[in-house]
Amino acid sequence: MSEPLRLQGISASAGYAEGPLFDLDQTVGSYVGKETADDEKAALETAIAIAAGRLTALIDAAEGDAADILEFQIAMLEDDALSSLAFAAIHAGQPADQAWRQALDAEIAGYDASDQDYFRARAADIRDIRDQVLRALTEAGDVQVPAGAILYGEDIAPTRFLETDWSSGGGIALKAGSTASHVAMLARSRGVPMIVGLGALPAHFAGIVLLDAEHGGIVLLPSKAEIDAFRQLSSSFTVRRDQAGTFLARPAATRTGTPVRVQVNIADPSEVDGIDIATCDGVGLMRTEFLFGKSLPDEETQYRAYRKVLEWAGDKPVTIRTVDAGGDKPVPGFTVDESNPFLGQRGIRLSLARPEVFRVQIRALLRAAVHGSLKVMFPMIAIVEEYRQAAAMFAEEQAALAARGIANKMPPLGIMVEVPSVAIVPEAFTEAAFFSIGSNDLTQYVMAAARDNAAVAHLNSVRHPAVLRLIAAVTAFGEREKIPVSLCGDAGGDPASIPSLLEAGLRDLSVAPAQLAMAKAAIADVSV
Ligand code: PEP
Ligand code: MG
Repeated sequence: MSEPLRLQGISASAGYAEGPLFDLDQTVGSYVGKETADDEKAALETAIAIAAGRLTALIDAAEGDAADILEFQIAMLEDDALSSLAFAAIHAGQPADQAWRQALDAEIAGYDASDQDYFRARAADIRDIRDQVLRALTEAGDVQVPAGAILYGEDIAPTRFLETDWSSGGGIALKAGSTASHVAMLARSRGVPMIVGLGALPAHFAGIVLLDAEHGGIVLLPSKAEIDAFRQLSSSFTVRRDQAGTFLARPAATRTGTPVRVQVNIADPSEVDGIDIATCDGVGLMRTEFLFGKSLPDEETQYRAYRKVLEWAGDKPVTIRTVDAGGDKPVPGFTVDESNPFLGQRGIRLSLARPEVFRVQIRALLRAAVHGSLKVMFPMIAIVEEYRQAAAMFAEEQAALAARGIANKMPPLGIMVEVPSVAIVPEAFTEAAFFSIGSNDLTQYVMAAARDNAAVAHLNSVRHPAVLRLIAAVTAFGEREKIPVSLCGDAGGDPASIPSLLEAGLRDLSVAPAQLAMAKAAIADVSV
């Protein structure tokens, strides 16, 4: 009997799955060449049209994020820049499949080589487009995935995810991948368990695999005892998730009745359409980077996005964060190329360096503020002068709007506590109206362990005593000085971390909407 083999990666979507492995990298068949270059060109044109048709059919059944991803892929497919390279190669004598593969591989290599998570994540979309067309060109495109299988490979295409029937279970185990990819986002919103960054798996493997995407590990060749233990963890997770649904409608409180505020983290304003405002205490973090995706957004676009969320929230608070571009979130035409972007010009540093861009966002926020209960916070604050400069710009823009007779309101201005210098010396920041602890970045900077690197994931823990001590100190300081303190990093929605966070004194968490019920259930289990 062989020994069990365990691999550790990063959880991208919590849950459990048990089933056979299905190798995603083996599913493209072989192409039968054509007589002439014209026939090759026609074959490629037909394949592109078939692929676009399949994507369009998927859009009809998709909503929200899924529809956005598919629309992005169709736009890429219809972009002549991609196909013209392939047509030129066909003209030079290459068969259609090689020509297409080479053209797309060159594009993918560019994205893959990026040291920035955001661009690497977009490589998966181009790979998907490549394979959709290759699939249409070849015969072996329709390999069926067995029900309940664990799909594994380098990465997984969003269309493959959307075509898969997840109703009989199953999950995703990726050798590479990223928790920031489109598929990871879909997996979280559909509750499909997913792990990324597992590294190489044995080439040929038959048998049942246990995928524990709550803790980020898989086991090949499990022993009977391991299977039993796994099933216990899995059923306890299912019970917790099902029971959690009953907590959603109630305000959160600990076992001993201490109330805890639970707000939501959002990015795209359309997300609020799927959330009942009665189930949360407001928006603890609205990320605004999504607005800066393809180009710099104008004031009107931003104003409409902020106003939509404020009107949805009514009298509940909405905390909007000024743009946190840079780090793992590059914005073409705005962020700068740096050897170490996590330690470079990101967040408030970049906004202050580009006041002409920052002032547009400030005006949009000041105008939107009249439509609800807005709070604004600045990301990546390291020294108080950054807060002062940003606050002064708010005051200047407000005076200018008022002089022009444009309706506006000054919101309370707070800071993210995510750079250790702030967490260690919070007394330097008493001018801020509130603190919001960004545990994702605070943890990576305290532990010197990148948040997107599976090899150091064991170090990147919010529950390390060094991180918890800082969180407790900031929370106690806020209480003494009457500065409200909340936490908006991913740890706030993690049932395993919630007891430690409440123990550290926090009573205000902001979590991903999909985590709302589980977070409230976990809070109800804590005695503080
Ligand atoms: C954080 O760092 O915890 C945070 C909420 O900000 P982001 O994840 O957007 O960097
Ligand atoms: Mg952060």
